[in-house]
Amino acid sequence: MKVTLLGTGSPIPDPRRAGPSQLVTADGLTVLVDCGRGVLMRLTAAGVLPPFLDGLLITHLHSDHITDLGDVITTRWVMSPGPNPLRVWGPPGTQEVVDGTLASLRPDIRYRIDHHADITQGPVVEVVEVSPGEVFPVGSATVRVGATDHRPVEPTVAFRIEVGDTSVVMGGDGVPCAGLDELCRGATAYVQTVIRDDLVKLVPMQRLQDILDYHSTVAQAAETAARAGVGTLVLTHYVPALQPGQEDEWRALAAPHFDGPIVLGDDLTSVEL
Ligand SMILES: [Zn+2]
Ligand SMILES: [Zn+2]
Repeated sequence: MKVTLLGTGSPIPDPRRAGPSQLVTADGLTVLVDCGRGVLMRLTAAGVLPPFLDGLLITHLHSDHITDLGDVITTRWVMSPGPNPLRVWGPPGTQEVVDGTLASLRPDIRYRIDHHADITQGPVVEVVEVSPGEVFPVGSATVRVGATDHRPVEPTVAFRIEVGDTSVVMGGDGVPCAGLDELCRGATAYVQTVIRDDLVKLVPMQRLQDILDYHSTVAQAAETAARAGVGTLVLTHYVPALQPGQEDEWRALAAPHFDGPIVLGDDLTSVEL
């Protein structure tokens, strides 16, 4: 199994970092997790085109995690030679977001159907709204859904993607909680979005201070990883943006709490599991 951080950014625009999104590939599996800003540029750089995705998992409906949903839907549609429904799993509310996205694409869908004789129908998106405890197959993987705590944002979920004995948990946004611990138990790897509370606290802007109570710090992500006995901790969605050369400084905040490998870096950083 290979996990690639397609986008390691956050809502704050960054010329070097796309928005939150991860790619998980294995024999018989190509799945996207979240689809933030610029996802298809990074997906292409990772060697995958949208028609070949087995599906899209969405952890929650915060805009930074779904900004480019319209691009994923449209580009898969126009690049596929025939009907190729996109399967999307996400928390309750996902259908509403997909319906709204498709509504925004209506003029474009009309233009293309009118112009191309071989395109006779619009994009098909099959949404499954999921809740903690559910288990479903995607490609060759078994995917388990766990609860996360990103309140007041609700509902939010994490996914555990398993192929054979290898597993990765996509924690999404949130603070540590029992549901996430349970989902992570014994996983080969755990990917967590993180903030640096020590740096965020220095910024005299209430709107930025507001994010402190619903995101894991680097230390909290490491504590979750240790409690759950995961093999490798992967950090992403850096707030503030990880600057070149700061990798060891971020690792040093996690290392006292977790003694396994800690992976972090630029967009397209990947780890083989
Ligand atoms: Zn969020
Ligand atoms: Zn986020």
